[in-house]
Amino acid sequence: MSQPLVIANWKMNLPLGGIQDWIQDEMMPNVDIVDFDKKSSYFKFMGIAPPISHLSELKNLFSFGFLGAQDISKYNDGAKTGDISAAMMIEKGCSFSILGHSERREFYGETNSIVREKLKICLAKEIIPVVCIGESIEDYNTGKTLDTLEIQLKEIFSSIITQTVIVIAYEPVWAIGTGNTPSSSEVNNIHQHIKDIVQSIANVEAINVIYGGSVNCENAKSFFQQSNIDGALIGGASLDGKNFLNIYNDFLETL
Ligand code: PEP
Repeated sequence: MSQPLVIANWKMNLPLGGIQDWIQDEMMPNVDIVDFDKKSSYFKFMGIAPPISHLSELKNLFSFGFLGAQDISKYNDGAKTGDISAAMMIEKGCSFSILGHSERREFYGETNSIVREKLKICLAKEIIPVVCIGESIEDYNTGKTLDTLEIQLKEIFSSIITQTVIVIAYEPVWAIGTGNTPSSSEVNNIHQHIKDIVQSIANVEAINVIYGGSVNCENAKSFFQQSNIDGALIGGASLDGKNFLNIYNDFLETL
């Protein structure tokens, strides 16, 4: 099974005009279908990860779509103030969770070993994990990208056995929110390495590697045209419904 995905990561933001406008005024008028099944089929590669507080609202407006969490607890339940468990996320309608985003690593000290614990929780609950990895600008400039990614992958995926589809988001830290990106062919080669490494250290049925970092309407197509780029994780550009839909349509065209 494969799960290409174009994911909107709203982080701790909401679209400027609110969620209703984002869906009904910006996205839906551009989608010429009304039937629920057809909508579900059209949107089957689109994921939205809103702030948890707005999952229910989004679920009502986007019932035909694919919702996710931006993070989950590494614990299943109990006295863990502030945490939200995978089971609670599932109850709210989430079928995937972003794990180990560079902002979680930078601001909350999340390590590869924590990401691994969260990965195991996702797999046990059959939530699709969207595991973020990526190198710093220093690593990139000194040619250490592949070494850094290999360390991250080994610490997170070694000996993992699963039939749940795995999504890895390759997000160079220096590309997030900066307008700078590696070239699409560079990303394509890196994604091939990521797939090879995971296949060699873990026993997983399906790996999809998506790219994140300053994807926008202008550059999206060049990424999607590459054979090893199975989608995108999109921050800033996803807050505008029209832009996000344009990017999604570019993705559909290259399938
Ligand atoms: C992200 O935060 O995952 C991201 C890719 O952000 P942006 O698209 O704004 O670079």
